[in-house]
Amino acid sequence: MATLANPTSDTNLTEPIAAKVHSGQRISSDDARHLWQHASDAELRELASVVRARFHPAHRATYMVMRIINYTNVCVAQCDYCAFYRLPGQDGGYVLPQEAVFAKLNELLALGGDLAAFNGGFNPHLPLDYYCDLFAAIRSRYGYSLEFYALTIAEFLYLADHAKLSYAEAAERFKAAGVRWITGGGAEVLTEEFRRRHSKFKYTVAEYFAAQRAILEAGLKTTATMVIGFDESLDERIEHLERTRAFQDEVAALDGGLQSFLCWTFKPYFTQLGGIEITTQEYLRHLALSRIYLDNIPRIRTSVLTQNAGALEGLRYGADDFDLPIEDEVTQKAGATISLDFERLLDHARALGFSPEYRHVAGTSANTAT
Ligand code: SF4
Repeated sequence: MATLANPTSDTNLTEPIAAKVHSGQRISSDDARHLWQHASDAELRELASVVRARFHPAHRATYMVMRIINYTNVCVAQCDYCAFYRLPGQDGGYVLPQEAVFAKLNELLALGGDLAAFNGGFNPHLPLDYYCDLFAAIRSRYGYSLEFYALTIAEFLYLADHAKLSYAEAAERFKAAGVRWITGGGAEVLTEEFRRRHSKFKYTVAEYFAAQRAILEAGLKTTATMVIGFDESLDERIEHLERTRAFQDEVAALDGGLQSFLCWTFKPYFTQLGGIEITTQEYLRHLALSRIYLDNIPRIRTSVLTQNAGALEGLRYGADDFDLPIEDEVTQKAGATISLDFERLLDHARALGFSPEYRHVAGTSANTAT
């Protein structure tokens, strides 16, 4: 990968970009490229903090306790960066019955969490009714004492196609089943070339955004995501940010559009693609660049799931929010480790000068969760 990053200082060019950021102007993609190549960590941190302060008090950070529920690992997409999936008929494939999902939700509530995110494979044997029945049963059983991110955009695309529904029709079906959120997961790096290299059965960038627009137009909420650390180039990373910002410009009028941006890092273990992990420092620099570039998305989230306590440094690099996850089989299968010692993680955030506050996404029947 050719992206990083022993930045070579070039203040002649960095200073005018810094001046733009300080005066509230938007930076260009060339500016972003230049910052990546020439700004020091301290400079990126400072500029990201300037943009962060437009949205959030300087020492405030928020977090959620959540679990990802991987309801099936059967998948036909065959992404080469995935250590989680089994092909249909392959040993080890599973589908969780409703009772198993409820047990996981009960455990989440017992641990003080109130957000579940569903993420599974493209399973050709699961009809749309499996999903709608499950989501309706969760809403009926738990009401609004917990919230759930029902699917990722990638799964939504597959299900809509599989059921021969338009994106608008599929969004309405899920909404009628009590769904309020479909996250921007499955984005990875949003360039057509990246998808051709690594996940050619996982939909195009154009389809991704068309589905996300339909989800917003149906009155559901959604988010932006990104994963780095595969073999993507700097240009591909910047293209992802560019497309995300442009999309948000178009959809912000739809109840705020993209509610947040979460970037995490590829875990290569046991995957076909393999490779080595990027460093936490590279992740933090990218987080800062994202905060500076995405001037129209209020919330930037840092990934404890893939960076553990190191992710909390991200609060100094422009992030304002993080998850404390209790489970995610997809990343755990590829090498992620999870700590349930929440107090240690929160103490780490406090030691960095932040006052972490629990951000409840559940507890109201109004569609106000963010
Ligand atoms: S990343 Fe998701 S879509 Fe791709 S193979 Fe794994 S489970 Fe399937």
